[in-house]
Amino acid sequence: MTSPYVSRSLPPAWQQFVEQCQNCRQCSLGQTRKQAVVWRGALSAPLMFIGEGPGAEEDARGEPFVGAAGRLLDLLLTAYGLDESVYHIGNVVKCRPPENRVPTEDEARACRPLLARQFNLVKPKVIVLLGATAFKYFTGSSEGISKVRGQWIEKNGYLILPTFHPAFILRNNRERIRLWEDIGLVRAKLEELDYLPKLSCQPDMPAGRR
Ligand code: SF4
Repeated sequence: MTSPYVSRSLPPAWQQFVEQCQNCRQCSLGQTRKQAVVWRGALSAPLMFIGEGPGAEEDARGEPFVGAAGRLLDLLLTAYGLDESVYHIGNVVKCRPPENRVPTEDEARACRPLLARQFNLVKPKVIVLLGATAFKYFTGSSEGISKVRGQWIEKNGYLILPTFHPAFILRNNRERIRLWEDIGLVRAKLEELDYLPKLSCQPDMPAGRR
């Protein structure tokens, strides 16, 4: 097992945060994980993605969204000129739920202080909630993700956009256009907030999975 965080020279606050995550046993997921999966992307970023929880590949490699769903997300983000220099990506729980089940409310609650600390370190302006679980645990709302996706929520100074999880798109490719549209909204918002220059032309939606 290799941890991607060990070889990096991280600022002290990040080093402490990684250690806190790797030593955490606040819920039972800490007993079955290989390692805590903390983030991928920039340490400080205007854009932060929050997913559900790590899968097998993430558990083994120690980074979120490095499996098939992550590759699809990267494909769509890259087409819109969004790379790891402008975003930070993590999950509502940092340890893999056995058999990739949905994390429980108690597990999400136990992990929330770590996510809050992560927000304070990253200081994003725009937050994208990937999928129903992230939306439910982040907002406390029980609305369906199909109903709320693509609609901005303003809360505590953050601009929050719920959208589909890329793993859902892998199973339902005809909905790819919805995730693509929502990434377009995010790109436009970052331009409006002067984090990014305007694109000279709108990109075409990529096909395939990369
Ligand atoms: S999921 Fe979160 S709260 Fe639970 S053990 Fe892992 S880091 Fe700790």
